[in-house]
Amino acid sequence: MKPKILIVDDLIENLISLEAILDGFDIDIIRAFSGEEALKFSMREDFALVILDVQMPGMNGYETLEMMRQRKKTKYLPVIFVSAIHQSDLHIIKGIETGAVDFIPKPIIPDILRGKVRVFLDLYIQRMRLNDLLEQMEETNLNLKVAKERAEEATRAKTMFLANMSHEIRTPLNGVIGLSKLLQKSEMNDDQQNLVNIITTSGENLLLIINDILDFSKIESGQVQLETINFNLRNLVKNIFQLLQFKANEKGIELCYHISDEIADTFLGDPLRINQILMNLVNNAIKFTHKGKVKLIIELIDQSEQSVRLLFRIVDTGIGISEEGKSLLFKEFSQSESSITRKYGGTGLGLAISQNLVNLMNGEIGIESKIGEGSEFWFRIPLKKSGILEDEEKDIANHLPKSVSILLAEDNLINQKVAVLTLKQLGFNCDIANNGAEAFKKYVSTRYELVLMDMQMPEVDGLQATRMIREYEQQNFIPHPAYVVALTANNMVEDKQLCFSVGMNNFLCKPFTEAGMRGILKDVARIQKK
Ligand code: ADP
Repeated sequence: MKPKILIVDDLIENLISLEAILDGFDIDIIRAFSGEEALKFSMREDFALVILDVQMPGMNGYETLEMMRQRKKTKYLPVIFVSAIHQSDLHIIKGIETGAVDFIPKPIIPDILRGKVRVFLDLYIQRMRLNDLLEQMEETNLNLKVAKERAEEATRAKTMFLANMSHEIRTPLNGVIGLSKLLQKSEMNDDQQNLVNIITTSGENLLLIINDILDFSKIESGQVQLETINFNLRNLVKNIFQLLQFKANEKGIELCYHISDEIADTFLGDPLRINQILMNLVNNAIKFTHKGKVKLIIELIDQSEQSVRLLFRIVDTGIGISEEGKSLLFKEFSQSESSITRKYGGTGLGLAISQNLVNLMNGEIGIESKIGEGSEFWFRIPLKKSGILEDEEKDIANHLPKSVSILLAEDNLINQKVAVLTLKQLGFNCDIANNGAEAFKKYVSTRYELVLMDMQMPEVDGLQATRMIREYEQQNFIPHPAYVVALTANNMVEDKQLCFSVGMNNFLCKPFTEAGMRGILKDVARIQKK
């Protein structure tokens, strides 16, 4: 669209002469014969410029400008006055302070008018371009905002979905794994034993996959919080290698580790997560190695007064990874080649999770590999030095309480059975409450040392029951409050925070393991000692 110029004069001959001067500009010229008409047109259309005669019958040029300046649409519309008035008298014109006002004396010198018009037109064109750009930017911003809101909404929905899925899947899985493990220990013939073993392994494998998916989503949505607790690195590694030894034996490959002598036994950090990373990497190394060996080497990089940096190297003589494969490795859901999925299975999440965890610990992870020769996965992490001496640590780590009064609050019959039998295996009995209200009642009459509290129960849920117990303890000045542990299939950070906020002491995620339960009992032992 061409820029438009409004020319205003009561005399047709002046308008015609103006048009003649402006001939040659690529513009549309609109005529107005009075100030009133000029106002009307200027409200209706967008003009680049108004050339306005001063002396007109009715509304003169100055009054017309004043009116224009009062209206939003024409407040900044550039105006050139055509008048015999001298430039120094311009201050008498109202509205002139808004700028965009110029002046050309009569008789008009064509070149001067053309020069001024050119300047205003250039300004107008630039302003239009800027407006276009602004509009585009506003549109892009709007689109981005909508897309961002949609993405956030989707993430929220995904997190919610995962929390629910986590609960729905883990609860029945708790029953399957827990009961089949207990069944494994009962009298059976070999065939039956074999079948039960398969059920247990399948359940455990399913749990591993579900945990991977949940873990990854939790890390992705910032749900993972690292712990800083005392742990024994040598024990941790020993356990991993004990667990994985049979896999290596099955494949006929050598599995070994070496921890540099200068490295201490205990550190402060998140042993569960370090265990998870090592399990992932050593498991992969065994999985992708068919002959030769898999070795874990832990070296000290450097240390300060309070912390150390350790280098973990997992070296294998396996199939190796191509350059192209390496670039995909740490991406979620990707495997170095699609044929790998068919041959070896897997979700392609292990390395993505490991990388995220190492990053969370402020460490780095990497790989060196030659196809056909083997791979070396490595990671470096900083760890805080632990003040605990080895003997103290052994003492704490291995101590189960001699006796402890336990209340299990759980409405699901299968879960009750799993918990009762797991406790029995460890040599403990417990009383059972079928809901929160019953739990509170039983607590008041017996004052248990340990309460295992399911979160979701009909009527009074675990949170409410815990609140009631804590209130009761406060009002009655109970010297040793119960150690209350949430039993739940929801493994999200918010759930944990919620549990702690009502006064629970710990959190046991279903399906829980014997080791998990043992850990809780050790905590109780530690409290009894105090
Ligand atoms: P998954 O093992 O479940 O497929 P990971 O994220 O742990 O997922 O591994 C991704 C891919 O990286 C594997 O599928 C495999 O292609 C490759 N990979 C991992 N570790 C090794 C290894 N030690 N040797 C050869 N390839 C490996």
